[in-house]
Amino acid sequence: MVGRTLTSVAIVGGGPGGLGTAIALSKLPFLEVTLYEKNLEPRESGAGISLSTNAWRVLDLLGASEGVKGGYKSNTHQRNAYTGKIIDVIEHPSGSSTDQRGAIRARRTRLQQALLAQVPDGIIRYNKKLIRLDNLQGDRVKLVFQDSTEVFADIVVGADGIHSIVRRCLFPDHKLSFTGDTAYRVLIPKSRLANLPEITSTTAWWWGKSGHIYFSDVDDESEQSDPLFEITVRSYHEPEVPGKTVAWGIPASNEKVAARVKEFDSRVRDAVDAVEQGEWWEFSGYAGPRLDRIIGWGKVALIGDSSHPLSGAFGSGATFAMEDGWILARALELSQSTTHAIPDALEIFSQIRTPYYTKMYQHLDEVKAKLQRVQYENADFDVFLRAKVENFIYGNKEFIYKNDIKKGWEDFLRTSKGIE
Ligand SMILES: Cc1cc2nc3c(=O)[nH]c(=O)nc-3n(C[C@H](O)[C@H](O)[C@H](O)COP(=O)(O)OP(=O)(O)OC[C@H]3O[C@@H](n4cnc5c(N)ncnc54)[C@H](O)[C@@H]3O)c2cc1C
Repeated sequence: MVGRTLTSVAIVGGGPGGLGTAIALSKLPFLEVTLYEKNLEPRESGAGISLSTNAWRVLDLLGASEGVKGGYKSNTHQRNAYTGKIIDVIEHPSGSSTDQRGAIRARRTRLQQALLAQVPDGIIRYNKKLIRLDNLQGDRVKLVFQDSTEVFADIVVGADGIHSIVRRCLFPDHKLSFTGDTAYRVLIPKSRLANLPEITSTTAWWWGKSGHIYFSDVDDESEQSDPLFEITVRSYHEPEVPGKTVAWGIPASNEKVAARVKEFDSRVRDAVDAVEQGEWWEFSGYAGPRLDRIIGWGKVALIGDSSHPLSGAFGSGATFAMEDGWILARALELSQSTTHAIPDALEIFSQIRTPYYTKMYQHLDEVKAKLQRVQYENADFDVFLRAKVENFIYGNKEFIYKNDIKKGWEDFLRTSKGIE
């Protein structure tokens, strides 16, 4: 960055990661930021999104927390989906969270709107689907789009999600595969479930052997006269359909979803029956091995789902993606005057974020091993569910939900750079 007027940054993808990165990088006066998004306009598929202390921290740093509102939970139930038996209840008394705003579940569009409101005007280019990156001799990268246009940039940020083209260009041998896990998601007016109080009065997971169903508020009821309510059906062992590539946000029929819960408790089936034909959306889960490197060519960084294809494993991926963008901005700011400013900054970004993602993969491996042991040692489904809830749902995940990204950055400055 030494000797140049402005360093150009091309962000590919306008999800939470791309938008968060655009906000953070636009505050640096030595950068010229452009975001390329394949959709024709802002679009958010999916239903609700959970936001915890880690999310509030990064949203505050981005100046984007205002207006992010959702349903606040007083307690969460874990149930056996066949019998309805309550396996566990977690009480969340008001103000118990590290952040007073607590853990909420919001409409995804609320988060998107809050982020979009902070992105400076004129930097997003819609209808720009990246199809290839070329690593040019020297310092630049060429981006080639489906509409046959090309642009050049000094830095490329791959924020293009789990099926990332940027990742494919950097690491062509890295492959994703279908996990067998498919989510069917919907937001419906809560009033339609008024005759099912046990469904709407708490956040709840109803666990079955080959799938589960999740119920949650997504609106702050003081704001909405007829708030929306989320239902997500997860099915773990869907067959792979030959030739089907990505099924993300495609419509699903009522019959298809009802078949996934046909052995569940009648209250669950009644809730599923309250969804009207054409309202369900289907999302097929893909995942891939951990990447050893989340940067490449000395000028490309992967953030969010493009860098850690975990398939939504922790329900906090949007926050990870925004944290990545904020750290990338700090690293570029810190290195701006060094001789190899861009590669230096990317190394710092990777040095901070790679161990974080490694820890997540390790956590998933440990939980999987524990659950396999319980399944093998004990045939009782309720005992298995209790172990699942203890280990996976609640087990030792404060490093995620209470992550303090600013403190992490300050720790890095102190331990690696001797800066207090
Ligand atoms: C079932 C499920 C439930 C989840 N629940 C939660 C939750 O409760 N809380 C949470 O925080 N996270 C949750 N997640 C994870 C979360 O959705 C993701 O981690 C998050 O959206 C990642 O953000 P991102 O910006 O990296 O990618 P994305 O949100 O995938 O955004 C990528 C963007 O890039 C664009 N794009 C893609 N390809 C191109 C291209 N070639 N050219 C240009 N643009 C392109 C896309 O259109 C999109 O706008 C869940 C995930 C799943 C599957």
